[in-house]
Amino acid sequence: MLQRPLLVLLIATCALSSGCGTSRRVLGYVLVPDETEIELGTQLAAQIETQQRLHPNRRLQSYIQRVAAALIPFALEDRPGIHYHVKVLDDPEEINAFAVLGGYLYVYSGLLLIAEDEAEIAGVLAHEIGHIVGRHSANQLAARFGMDLLTSLALGEDLQLLGEIASQLGSARFSRDDEREADTFGVRYTIAAGYDPRGLLRFFEKLNKLETRRRSDLEKLFASHPPTGERIRRIERLIDQYGASGGQNYRTRFVRETAVLRR
Ligand SMILES: [Zn+2]
Repeated sequence: MLQRPLLVLLIATCALSSGCGTSRRVLGYVLVPDETEIELGTQLAAQIETQQRLHPNRRLQSYIQRVAAALIPFALEDRPGIHYHVKVLDDPEEINAFAVLGGYLYVYSGLLLIAEDEAEIAGVLAHEIGHIVGRHSANQLAARFGMDLLTSLALGEDLQLLGEIASQLGSARFSRDDEREADTFGVRYTIAAGYDPRGLLRFFEKLNKLETRRRSDLEKLFASHPPTGERIRRIERLIDQYGASGGQNYRTRFVRETAVLRR
């Protein structure tokens, strides 16, 4: 395990203090320059792609990139300078998606298999993009390893440690504040891109109905704090607040473009 007492302490302090979101954000801005974050993300993405299998279907890959491409312009307004890379990992048993700092997003084929339309996938992608906009992983890794080590990792100097970090990113847990912030970004970007923002809610509710084994996948995906019920109500309020009515689901297109997964 790479867990260090300092990180546990930071998270515990964060959970108890109301000003924590701000201070962590400042920490992220000061400690992790964009250039380092992007270089480190590139190193970690290279590790992930040696550890796991990308889905071989090019049409599926380019479809997911197009879904993300509709959301990305709005994320760039909040955080310019990030080049996003979105890929499908081939594991039909894994219901998960995760963001790697610097702009790398991975979605497992298992998550695509339980989705029913494009709005659900857009909601999940927008949430993960929100973690990158909020610099959540960069902050977390800076708190855990310190900037000197992150800088040398960004230069590719410790492949073994890079590999260990990369293997844990899919199950990384964020603080409640980070999850809320990613939800807020996610709702905003899906609405701005013309999607039905209730896709994310439908996806949450669907996962809640799945059997227990799969529910643990859900906890990996959306880190279960704040509790799902509270989070659903908060997302509903955000949707009302941003005044979304309608929005597209693109169900037919989703079913057609992901058909290779069901063959
Ligand atoms: Zn999240």
